Amino acid sequence: MSPRGGFVSTRAKERTGPTFTFSEAALAGLAPDGGLFVPTPWPRLEDGTGPSWLGQSFPQFATVFLIPFFEGDPLEGAVGELCADAFDFEVPLRTLRPGLKVLELFHGPTAAFKDFGARFLARVLSQARQTLPGEPPIRVLVATSGDTGAAVAAAIHQVDGLEVGVLFPKGGVAPRQERQLTCWDGNVRSFAVRGTFDDCQAMTKQIFADRDWPASGRLTSANSINIGRLLPQAAYAAFAAARYAAEVGAPPDLLIPSGNLGDAVAAFWARHLGFPIGRIVLVTNANTVVPDWYRTGRWDPRRSVRTLANAMDVGDPSNMERLLALYPERPALLDGSDAVSVSDATIEQSIARVDREWGYVVCPHTATALHVAMDRSAPHQIVYATAHPAKFDEIVEPIIGRSVPVPPALAELLGRPTRVTEVEASAGAVKRVWP
Ligand SMILES: *Cc1c(COP(=O)(O)O)cnc(C)c1O
Repeated sequence: MSPRGGFVSTRAKERTGPTFTFSEAALAGLAPDGGLFVPTPWPRLEDGTGPSWLGQSFPQFATVFLIPFFEGDPLEGAVGELCADAFDFEVPLRTLRPGLKVLELFHGPTAAFKDFGARFLARVLSQARQTLPGEPPIRVLVATSGDTGAAVAAAIHQVDGLEVGVLFPKGGVAPRQERQLTCWDGNVRSFAVRGTFDDCQAMTKQIFADRDWPASGRLTSANSINIGRLLPQAAYAAFAAARYAAEVGAPPDLLIPSGNLGDAVAAFWARHLGFPIGRIVLVTNANTVVPDWYRTGRWDPRRSVRTLANAMDVGDPSNMERLLALYPERPALLDGSDAVSVSDATIEQSIARVDREWGYVVCPHTATALHVAMDRSAPHQIVYATAHPAKFDEIVEPIIGRSVPVPPALAELLGRPTRVTEVEASAGAVKRVWP
């Protein structure tokens, strides 16, 4: 008998022991032992370079990609509908020059790649709750360095049976990001924390560990520790690589602006599943914990520093645990990947240079990875464009000397009234104001 497919904790011995289905793992957020859920055994997908993957829209592709992960799950039959509903926007792969393409991941409602995972997860949670009769609302807690919170809030706002609390570092996000985080009412609460993103992340971890809140009902996390966000991100890594390889005849390297390593882990998973991906290059801002580990082998998490690419201001990336679970041997990981850090000064130069060479405007996060791509001699590269530049107008516009048109969905959010509660950086402070 083959073991049931599902998810286990990164901390489970030999990756055995209790297996969770997709929706159980999404509802739990974190594994009971404090680890992160990873797929086991890995489902066998059809050859990633094979014809069955081509000619499909992203929602169709994502459906075929994700269904094997729902084996034995009550939502197995709903995956197609979930994908069609969650991914109802474009995922263009744009050519800057031969051998260098940009995967635009910012065409969702809050204009960053976080919309993919947040919208899919919100639908999984909402449907999973309907299979739990008489269940009180599910409370979703999310710490954000800028973009996650807005995507999760937008995805859950006015969804029956779910409520969400968003923790963000006060003063640590861009002005338009802050507006997007605070323009909600009803079932969405926004908390401006007097601290850093790492404080916000530590607060959510502590609240989960306490297990005494909320008084009734379930709590889950919508951070990229949640498997329901990561797998859709693996789907677009596979989608882009399969399309590139079919068109150009070679596997592309993926260059990924990285913070908490959600996109990075998802790309490693797509490659592990057999999709045609060359090297994976993790590009960080001045928060260098990952590049330092690549260089020295020493894992030395530290407080994050603020940079222009603020959604990547992470000093202790949670998803490193998943990367190490996939590659217990460091040399094997280094063999097919790199990690590079880019300074704020370079981010500014990169925004200017990309505009000068191609008339293409990028956000500060995308600028990190594009800088690295422009200076590598690799023949086949895809750079993730992680957010729309209009979200970072105060940084981008002075550099390019003109204004960036705001996409309509973003303009609508920016026009709404705001509501926010300021709290000190402690778990107790949140529990008090949101009992
Ligand atoms: C979240 C985010 C990142 C970093 O992604 P991780 O998955 O946390 O590594 C990069 N760019 C933008 C615009 C983001 O919102």
